[in-house]
Amino acid sequence: MICVLAGGVGAARLLNGLKDVAPPEEITAIVNTGDDAIMHGLYICPDIDTVTYTLAGVNNIETGWGLKGETWQAMESLKKLGGKTWFNLGDRDLATHMYRTDRLSEGAGLKEITAEITSAMGVSVNLLPMTEDQVETKVTLLESNDEISFQEYFVKHRHDISVSAVRFNGSAEAKAAPGVIDAISEAEVVIIAPSNPIVSIAPIFSVSEISDAIKARKKDVVAVSPIIAGAALKGPADRLLNELGHEASVKGVAKYYQEWISTLVIDTADFNTAKDIESLGIDCLVTETVMTDSQIAASLGSTLLGLKK
Ligand code: GDP
Ligand code: CA
Repeated sequence: MICVLAGGVGAARLLNGLKDVAPPEEITAIVNTGDDAIMHGLYICPDIDTVTYTLAGVNNIETGWGLKGETWQAMESLKKLGGKTWFNLGDRDLATHMYRTDRLSEGAGLKEITAEITSAMGVSVNLLPMTEDQVETKVTLLESNDEISFQEYFVKHRHDISVSAVRFNGSAEAKAAPGVIDAISEAEVVIIAPSNPIVSIAPIFSVSEISDAIKARKKDVVAVSPIIAGAALKGPADRLLNELGHEASVKGVAKYYQEWISTLVIDTADFNTAKDIESLGIDCLVTETVMTDSQIAASLGSTLLGLKK
């Protein structure tokens, strides 16, 4: 078994690569739900949906979220009504959120619902929400000191605004979703995908049961750095690391993950920092990590599986 801690796009690419080199049924992804939002009464799981759509091969490559070939008639009608339209929801994508919301109202859990959606979309990788309890990523803005939801920060403000704090509301009471702790305990290798450390991986660690289970597996935990040559490939990972007092570099990522990992995989662009990582007591592996095509993703996947002890 292989266990992967996952945010959105970076994780989806890595999971696609892993499923080309290992049986998908043997891969379990534990997916961030801190970004989840309720819009128009619909329960939306952006990271679960990004991973599901990507593994199903129906993700929208241009936008980086949602479905390919999407249309926007519902949003256009909503705009005419004067409804909230800052969070775009495509016509086909809406069906996912309608289905999930309806099943939640019938009393089904998020794990079960996720399995129903992935199965209907032909995805055999096992996707688990990190928790079925409410954990909400909250962002405090530097200038106004206002605390806003993650989606307001990310979508409404286009993450183009300075942040002074991030917290995970509800995490102290949250339990891991069913299956999560077993997936971590039974895995031969636990992989932290190249996702945003502050707002995709930290929410997963904010559930103490999960954090402890990962620490117990530390010698088998490997992270792939989402920071390459001091920058994120996309999104605010570099900016958030800096703003919250970490270094936006592979060394900053290594320090951030130090309690949980024994190995960090860094990109060839950062080859000269391998010694710095090793000086922290973390093994460092240098390889191509920018998954611009499926071959690179598969090759990174097989390198990671080669680390199984
Ligand atoms: P989300 O889609 O917004 O939830 O974002 P993620 O949690 O996936 O985080 C995006 C991060 O993944 C950014 O910091 C990117 O630099 C990183 N990322 C995306 N694709 C890749 C990739 O192919 N290789 C590596 N090393 N990092 C990636
Ligand atoms: Ca996300």
